[in-house]
Amino acid sequence: MVLLPGLALALAVVASCSRAYEPDLEAAWVLTVETTDSLRTTVAIPSSEAAAPIVKRKGGRTVVTYPSVGGKNFEVSFSYSGDAKSREVVPTVVNREDGWVVLRLTTPEIRDLGVDVEKMKLLLPNGAGFLHDLTRIEDTRGQDLGADVEKEGADGKKRSFAHLNERVGWKEVTGETPCFESSWRYPNSRQLSMQWAQFSSGTENLYLASHDSLFRWKVFRFKYFPDEKRVSFFQENLFTCFPGETWNGPPTLIAWTEGSWKTGARTYRDWYHSVRTIPERPDWIRKSSGWALTILKNQNGKTIWSYPEVGTTLLDEVDRRGIDIVSLYGWTVGGHDRFYPDYDPDPLMGGEEALRESIRKIHERGKKVTLYFNGQLIDTNDTQFWPDTGRFITSIDRRRRPVILQYWKFTSTGKPRSFGKGCYGSEVWCKRLRNLAMMTHELGADGLIYDQMGVGHPLFCYGEGHGHSIPTIGYEQDRVAALERIAAEMQAVHPGFMLITEGLQDCEMNSVDVFWGYSPTSEQGPMPIYMRQAMDGESFWTPFPDMFRYTFPEAILIIRTPTPAATRGSLNFSTTFGYKHEIETRYLQDKRYLVEGIIPDPSEYDDIRAKPDIPSMLDQDPAEAVRYSKAVLDLRRRNEDLLYTGEYTSDDGFTLSTDDPYVLARAFVSGKKMGIVVWNISDEAPASFTVTPDKGWKFVAADAPDGEPLEGPLPAQSIRLLVFERVR
Ligand SMILES: [Zn+2]
Repeated sequence: MVLLPGLALALAVVASCSRAYEPDLEAAWVLTVETTDSLRTTVAIPSSEAAAPIVKRKGGRTVVTYPSVGGKNFEVSFSYSGDAKSREVVPTVVNREDGWVVLRLTTPEIRDLGVDVEKMKLLLPNGAGFLHDLTRIEDTRGQDLGADVEKEGADGKKRSFAHLNERVGWKEVTGETPCFESSWRYPNSRQLSMQWAQFSSGTENLYLASHDSLFRWKVFRFKYFPDEKRVSFFQENLFTCFPGETWNGPPTLIAWTEGSWKTGARTYRDWYHSVRTIPERPDWIRKSSGWALTILKNQNGKTIWSYPEVGTTLLDEVDRRGIDIVSLYGWTVGGHDRFYPDYDPDPLMGGEEALRESIRKIHERGKKVTLYFNGQLIDTNDTQFWPDTGRFITSIDRRRRPVILQYWKFTSTGKPRSFGKGCYGSEVWCKRLRNLAMMTHELGADGLIYDQMGVGHPLFCYGEGHGHSIPTIGYEQDRVAALERIAAEMQAVHPGFMLITEGLQDCEMNSVDVFWGYSPTSEQGPMPIYMRQAMDGESFWTPFPDMFRYTFPEAILIIRTPTPAATRGSLNFSTTFGYKHEIETRYLQDKRYLVEGIIPDPSEYDDIRAKPDIPSMLDQDPAEAVRYSKAVLDLRRRNEDLLYTGEYTSDDGFTLSTDDPYVLARAFVSGKKMGIVVWNISDEAPASFTVTPDKGWKFVAADAPDGEPLEGPLPAQSIRLLVFERVR
């Protein structure tokens, strides 16, 4: 049974001898509708209130149509195809009911996916990827995290999580049939950065995906019943379907495949490339070593760097560490997270001409500059933009209130600042963003970051006068379209202009050149601990950064290391997995560390709410940190054909043998060369290992950061590059 070209490829390995899929007409689904009057009454109608279905079979598909739902003229149908090994369901809604808009439809719940959780783990694209081991889910039960544990939601708000199972995304439901429930929204950097998930055993997989070429808002929903070891699944779709309209929904695909987990990655990648083009990025971006994120002025109005210092002291420090992009944050009159979207060069920092002069000096050193803008926030105080324009283009929620986000950087400033969340359905807002890109070009910089533009999932906007239907889905196709237009316009006037965003969402890969943060996640902590946790595989929730990297090896990702101190762990991780390196200098104390090597006392950060990774500064010699940064980035530079422009192939093409538990290796292929980076993550023990390439490759050379051994056991917290050549 052929479903779609991409899926057919994966299914070729499965011997298909089963009969056509018979839909379960008892399976529950829900339609959510809302009145279009000023009261906006919302009603969720369960499938038990739908009229008896009409079942038609045609051309290998079974279409189940419910002519009315809840006694109203909403026609809902589900079109099924496939067999027991692979199936697809595509929903359709026809709205013939005046006065109502349809907002949501869940697909019929599959009560039992048939996965053996003892053997199969759930791979989800939370950030770059996480494995969820459902057999350990009860380990998360009742683990009190205390009141101090907060997690920032996709809307930017901090929330407290009382228990570990909530934090890792599974909520315990007690009652007659106890279970753990989880909901994963797409597109959302923390939840689903791609539209696929998979249960994998190592040799067998259950691929769950939505090959939705419009990349629409959807939610994958699982329930795990520990007593029965059963997993149920359905897909929730959010949209608008007004009277007289038909909504053709995205497919849900479920397919059993054989082989490693990579079968799913290849299937999804092939599908993606059949519907979307990812442009080849300019060489300077692909070969960049990373960026130095630097806040010039903070939210409290205090200046950390002047413009002349940017082209002298800061440039020198960036250079000493082998980094080649200077990323300027808080470079305007307002500073960071203040007065957005007014971005005016600051006379107190030296004025516009001094800024241009520093940009020229950075270019003379062969380096690049990016400027910061927030892609969604509009300050509600202290600007003329807010009363004149901002409040009219801010997203509006169902209760007709503006969507407000708060950011509070320093306790001493007394209270958070409030920002409206701009609506991309408003041409006024999109034009403002385009003007900022043009301003970046005119100031002589090489690109920009629109912060937060790739982080959160869509929302319903009820804003009058925005130029869209009420409601509409915001932060979905409108956000993608805004980025596409900016990218196209900037490439026309400034070929090679770099567009960066915070977050990780595959729907933005056609316009966004570089994704920063959330890859692997926004909160991974020190990389060695994170990766050792992955290799131990002994917890419910373990990192799996290969999921995104292997699916989209062409994606350019900057890791987040919120400290001016480059650690061996972050440098080794970014080299092994092919990420761009970063350091962050956001506070005066950070600057002193960066420039003078002065190790701060942790109490110096007491007033700061979003603290840097302070242990990274305390636990190592500052001079050694600078030396190792340069040594690693030089290693990558001399092997740039492999480590920057080579294709990341994960652990394909070779076998790693070792008795040491914390050694891993990843490969990059470029023409007839393959480079394999071996990393000993252990904090203490040197590791012995053997790398054996597949037939047809021969070893030609080893390389390592200057001062590190090229052969013999690999010291703790070290990397080595082994280069092979194709011989036939
Ligand atoms: Zn709107």
